[in-house]
Amino acid sequence: MQKPFQTIDYQCPAPHVVRIVLDRPAHRNAQDTRMLYELNEAFDRAAQDDEIKVIILAATGPHFSAGHDLREPDKEEAIGRHRTVGTWCGFACDGAEGQMAREKEMYQGLSERWRNIAKPTIAAVQGRCISGGLMLVWPCDIIVAAQDAQFMDNTVAMGLNGAEYFAHPWELGFRKAKEMLFTADFLSADDAHRLGMVNHVVPVGELGGFTLNLAQRIARKPLFALKLAKESVNNAQDAQGRNGVMNAAFGLHQLAHSHNKLKFGVSIDPSGIDPAMRGKVVLPGLADVPD
Ligand code: ZN
Repeated sequence: MQKPFQTIDYQCPAPHVVRIVLDRPAHRNAQDTRMLYELNEAFDRAAQDDEIKVIILAATGPHFSAGHDLREPDKEEAIGRHRTVGTWCGFACDGAEGQMAREKEMYQGLSERWRNIAKPTIAAVQGRCISGGLMLVWPCDIIVAAQDAQFMDNTVAMGLNGAEYFAHPWELGFRKAKEMLFTADFLSADDAHRLGMVNHVVPVGELGGFTLNLAQRIARKPLFALKLAKESVNNAQDAQGRNGVMNAAFGLHQLAHSHNKLKFGVSIDPSGIDPAMRGKVVLPGLADVPD
């Protein structure tokens, strides 16, 4: 028997369709170590089940995801409990090595792995989707947004160059990518739709039904052709240099963490964070950032 998940729900709402649901609503679905590895296990389960053709990623509660859980207690211990899925290893190393290893696997690595699942994936997003939250929805093939969805990357305000999965130029276009990073303003569902970042905007109450209907229509197509179509479009992005850009940005991201540690003693710059946002539940990690 498969072991139950604690931070997500694995549902089979229709034939050939799996729905993976983020289920930490009290934490605004902030991603702790367990959630990231459970998500990966759930994606693997759906990918390896030949009966499944389409995977939906959804979330319970008013907000899709507040991003990475920066308040996670005993994070190092939690990481030790979860087996790594890559070969980078060295999570416990000191200096810059351990943090780079963890982010290489848990952040950039898992998002890239999910982006390359050989089945169509659809994200269904309501409420706020912040920084690390983008690293769950951007790897999906299709994004359906509720009208109240809002997207934000506030990592520049935290002394970094962007979230670890640096897909911003492809998701938004170059100018809007810069504006999103420079301002940390929220992008509305309608603006995200206009820019091509989301496929559909639907009323909040229709998000689940609309997404499931879309998944079922896709699931009527031959799976091998769906796989080939997905890979063909992904190849087009990669031919534009996406991988090289993402890896270069990841290196700069690690430089920024090291700079912040040298200058402030913590891996992010606490000075650029709007005091009004500190401690807000939608940004759970900021409560712990020293003044
Ligand atoms: Zn980072």
